[in-house]
Amino acid sequence: MSELSYKRTNVYETASEEKKAKIFEYAKGYAAFLDASKTEREACAYVVNAAQENGYREYHFGDRMAAGDKFYYNNRGKNVYLFKIGSKPIAKDGIRILAAHIDSPRLDLKQVPLYESDGVALAKTHYYGGIRKYQWAAIPLALHGAVVTADGSVKEIVIGEDETDPVFYISDLLPHLAAKQSAKPLGEALAGEDLNIWFGNMPYTLATEEKDKTVKENVLRILFEKYGIKEEDFLSAELSLVPAFKAKDVGFDRALIGAYGHDDRVCAYPAYTALFDEEENEHTTMVVLADKEEIGSEGTTGMQCAIFTDLINEIANAFGVSAAQVRAVSKCFSADVNAGYDPNFKDVCEPLNSVYISCGVGLTKFTGSRGKSGSNDASAEFVGEIRKTFAENGIIWQTGELGKVDCGGGGTVAKYIANMNIDTVDIGVGVISMHAPFEVVSKADVYEEYLAFRAFLK
Ligand code: MN
Ligand code: MN
Repeated sequence: MSELSYKRTNVYETASEEKKAKIFEYAKGYAAFLDASKTEREACAYVVNAAQENGYREYHFGDRMAAGDKFYYNNRGKNVYLFKIGSKPIAKDGIRILAAHIDSPRLDLKQVPLYESDGVALAKTHYYGGIRKYQWAAIPLALHGAVVTADGSVKEIVIGEDETDPVFYISDLLPHLAAKQSAKPLGEALAGEDLNIWFGNMPYTLATEEKDKTVKENVLRILFEKYGIKEEDFLSAELSLVPAFKAKDVGFDRALIGAYGHDDRVCAYPAYTALFDEEENEHTTMVVLADKEEIGSEGTTGMQCAIFTDLINEIANAFGVSAAQVRAVSKCFSADVNAGYDPNFKDVCEPLNSVYISCGVGLTKFTGSRGKSGSNDASAEFVGEIRKTFAENGIIWQTGELGKVDCGGGGTVAKYIANMNIDTVDIGVGVISMHAPFEVVSKADVYEEYLAFRAFLK
């Protein structure tokens, strides 16, 4: 990286043996979170459980609050707010907020998913978030989600994660017959309506004594016997296909972690563990783990929902101060990932302004696309303040944009929080193959991010 005028520091290169051990230990906790939290529902349940273990109690609107109180607010099982009341007056000191998201790109089952074609039971999907469709074929998929049956009961489903579970599958062409498909542009190789899941291949007549039953009917029989689900129950279900892989160390030196859903569990985990571990309690602090970021932060569990300002209003009301005053002095890290510099795809990375893997936490002053469209462009003053905080705490950090200016772009929850008159900047780690079924990050960056979040909260 000698060609760079702005120098990066590789965290591993400068880390003591003691720090290296901490990096690797921290990664184990993160991997456990990844494996147990492949959907926003699972991540929410995991974090609420961890919050309870750390002395957080459930918040109800109107509850009284005092310095030292720790609360969680579980928004519909998909979005969680954690907050800790500090000793400083919030009208002057505001709230320190870390906002990450816990939804990831995936394939959702349609509401009428099941059909049979040429002796194969298949299920239709509708993709969620920005995926490269061809990457989702020919890999093992697991089924996660919730089904609300006719009597209103909710059945939680996870199939494909246990070693003894079956997995699910989307077929792709063999190279021998792919001449026509291979000549298509990559984005057209598989269409959205081609992402149909193999659910079964055994006619009912082989499984039982009954005659003239189909493969689809046999799948429905199993669904009912094992899970109590009928075909019409898919109407009120949220079932997703996610990669069935577990988090794994990557490379001979184990510097990296590969997993599904780093975007944005890689910020969610450091955010809530930093909150739990930070014992200096002067500031009022909040961690938001949002849903629906990948589809625009919409709806009751997305970052644009009024619940965010409602909770700030409640905190302000509890201390008899103006919520507008609290927001005006609050500060936020929009904790989300950035594209890591990839030596295999140099042509889309701008070397001076890229986040390099293992070179620490990345600060992204603005996101958006083209002429910064759709961006929260953090002020120089706020970035300067964060620089100072990082310098004082020895945080290894770097700056980066999401690729070259004309190559594309992307956004985060930053603008929705900034719109509430809260100074916000994007902070996160570099990811390789973002939004792929198996993404890669550096353990060193995850740990440095955790240290950066602690520095911000204290
Ligand atoms: Mn993200
Ligand atoms: Mn994303």
